[in-house]
Amino acid sequence: MQVLKFGGSSVANAVNISKCIGIIRKAVEQDKTIVVISALGGITDSLLLCAAAAAAGDEGYTETLKAIEQRHLDMVRELIPVTSQSHILSMVKKTCNELEDIFKGIFLLRELSARTKDHVVSFGELLSSRILSAALAAMDSPNSWKDSREVIVTDTRFGHALVDFPATQKKMTAYFQGTHDVLFIVPGFIAADSRGITTTLGRGGSDFTAAIYGSALNSNKIEIWTDVSGMMTADPRLVSNARVIPEISYQEAMELSHFGAKVIYPPTLQPVMNKNIPVWIRNTFVPADPGTLIEKISSTAGNSIRGISSIHRIALLSLEGSGMIGIPGFSKRLFEALSRQQINVILITQASSEHSICVGVDSSQAAIAKISIDDAFAIEIQAGTVLPLFVEEELAIIALVGDNMKNHPGISGKLFGALGRNGINVRAIAQGSSERNISAVISTKDVKKAVNVLHEEFFEATYKQLNLFIAGTGNVGKRLLQQLAQQRNFLQDQLRLQVRVTGVANSRRMLVQEEGIDLHSWSAELEKGDPMHLRDFIKIIHSKNLRNSVFVDVTANKEVAMGYEQLLQKSISVVACNKIACSAPYSYYRKLKDLSKEFNAAFFFETNVGAGLPVIGTLNDLLRSGDKIRKIEAVLSGTLNFVFNHYDGKTKFAAVVKQAQDEGYTEPDPRLDLSGTDVMRKIMILAREAGHALEMEEISNQVFLPASCMEGSVEDFYKAMDREEAQFKKLFDAAAAEEKKLKFVAGYENGKASVGLQHVGPSHDFYHLYGKDNIVLFYTDRYPEQPLVIKGAGAGAEVTASGVFADIIRAANA
Ligand code: ADP
Ligand code: ASP
Ligand code: MG
Repeated sequence: MQVLKFGGSSVANAVNISKCIGIIRKAVEQDKTIVVISALGGITDSLLLCAAAAAAGDEGYTETLKAIEQRHLDMVRELIPVTSQSHILSMVKKTCNELEDIFKGIFLLRELSARTKDHVVSFGELLSSRILSAALAAMDSPNSWKDSREVIVTDTRFGHALVDFPATQKKMTAYFQGTHDVLFIVPGFIAADSRGITTTLGRGGSDFTAAIYGSALNSNKIEIWTDVSGMMTADPRLVSNARVIPEISYQEAMELSHFGAKVIYPPTLQPVMNKNIPVWIRNTFVPADPGTLIEKISSTAGNSIRGISSIHRIALLSLEGSGMIGIPGFSKRLFEALSRQQINVILITQASSEHSICVGVDSSQAAIAKISIDDAFAIEIQAGTVLPLFVEEELAIIALVGDNMKNHPGISGKLFGALGRNGINVRAIAQGSSERNISAVISTKDVKKAVNVLHEEFFEATYKQLNLFIAGTGNVGKRLLQQLAQQRNFLQDQLRLQVRVTGVANSRRMLVQEEGIDLHSWSAELEKGDPMHLRDFIKIIHSKNLRNSVFVDVTANKEVAMGYEQLLQKSISVVACNKIACSAPYSYYRKLKDLSKEFNAAFFFETNVGAGLPVIGTLNDLLRSGDKIRKIEAVLSGTLNFVFNHYDGKTKFAAVVKQAQDEGYTEPDPRLDLSGTDVMRKIMILAREAGHALEMEEISNQVFLPASCMEGSVEDFYKAMDREEAQFKKLFDAAAAEEKKLKFVAGYENGKASVGLQHVGPSHDFYHLYGKDNIVLFYTDRYPEQPLVIKGAGAGAEVTASGVFADIIRAANA
């Protein structure tokens, strides 16, 4: 004997039912078979809605009822040959007429009791099982239809009746032993009390029906046929990387289903586990897939975690007060108050100080729980020794489940570490003494992110997914996207990083695609994106709430730089080549650094100084290892170096500047470079990183650019430089007369910073600095005489993009 159960989606329409029929016909060749059927997908909900409408006096219920009838009639017509239809069509019509009478009664009385609800929903399973039975018969598969209400006995807890197993077993054995038939079709979900009044086993209860038949008749196996290929490591609707668990123990499967894995109704395994009846979860639509085998497993080998599940709509009730300490009986009174209202407790935690008890219940029961508990502790609350019950809503529970957890220390550390890194706040935790489950209560809005983070941590340890949101598609942004596309496979294979560009924006448009933007066609796709508003872009990043999110700022825009605060606060890392944030007033820089620490989000800006050169990273490493910065000397402007290396007093100064701009070595407004402002920003950032709260106004700048060049537009600036050519030539000639070169040098010593043009002779480190190179000399306690020197290309889109790239990878590993 075997029991096969087909769920709502498996019997949702004629095409699907035909698939079930194929599976049933094959199964019955092997063994005597009982087939348990759910209502057609969605029908139970429709019946309940219809009943509620009728009870509310809404005549619209008749339309819903008509649609229900039509759906069943259509199915019969599609499934069964015309010649065999009449009998079953009249059955459907007769049943629906009966249903209509009941609804009319509900409508007239404006009353809908739990008992009537059970009666109404029973029609869903009665209709579906009758139709399947007729369809099989019409295909030469003789079978017996049996009403489960005649063989499953329950108490009268309508909506959630408890099964009387001895009585049920007696009835089932009597019926099934007395027949030689080999195929039985029975409705799931429904049963009857000892007087024969219809009851139901709870929503999703057809799985349980299968287990009741299987257990009472000692079947060889039970197969639950559904719309997924087995019990999965996480809810596939939340985690796209979830995978089928080939084998799982009864206890683990039970724990997962109790904590929200809807694929199996929680009480289902109870009656079969003592009898060691194997339960398979199989996919009606992919019958070749092996599915999941739920059975007794004693081996403790393999992954420590078998699956992750989550329950939404949780309320956390906290009872707190000094009056609870050391006085026995408090918890008892609390749980009695809950039990009086038949409130199911899903999770319990108690602080060891006994100062507070915290329980998780379904949100729908929170209000009644508060009344009941406040009432039970009225005297203490009045005396002030216990506080009124504190209720928090909009919460969820996530649970890690695995028999093998107890043999692997450090799991909770990994759990909280992963949640913490992603800014997910844990409100309460519980670990069962069986050590088969660790549960954490978190905010509902974080569930998807949390389940994915944990899935990655425990099942995809080999890969970590990064979600990048890139602002800016100019010279650097374009190169960065190119480099990401090019290195994609390398990162995946070598660094185990799956880098996904989830969002791209420029000053005009923005585009966010959770599944990742195609890096070969991003430009065309972005053109079709929404108009860019930074506030909206950040709002989307927040609402997507994706794990390992990194915001990459490759703009030179002030508004973008002012947005970091909102990102870091949500644990979203920020990588910037934009210097505006770090060179803003010190208080903003400090705030960002502090937020980064507080919310565990990386804030990296290596390219703010020396483009791709490892300047800030080296400075940080020196300080971390205990060194102290005594002095910094540097040529920090690739632009100015390029300009003074190319200006020979013959070609016009303005033409050399233009060339630098054309080759992409300048800021969008080259005056930021030429005025020395950009160099001031850089030396200030280095000073700040070295621990000095320096402001721009404190830096002395011997400006060489005549004031007239600073007025008007960039075009005016070029014209003004042309007019001032004599000034530039004078500067050049003065240096040349001493056989020296002009270098724009930044210095920092004893908390003071300065920038300005200097004449540099051949013996100086800076003399042989060509092209757009930068050089930084760090004089420290460990490098007092011979400085640590960092030298190389200090400007250019390609090297800057590679520096940003490196920061992104660092953020991933932070
Ligand atoms: P049926 O109608 O066949 O009873 P259900 O909708 O009750 O099917 O259960 C199957 C659904 O359960 C799947 O489609 C899936 O979305 C959901 N589900 C939630 N958690 C899990 C999990 N851990 N493994 C598999 N499915 C899950
Ligand atoms: N039809 C019932 C429900 O939707 C039982 C089931 O499908 O398991 O809850
Ligand atoms: Mg189900």
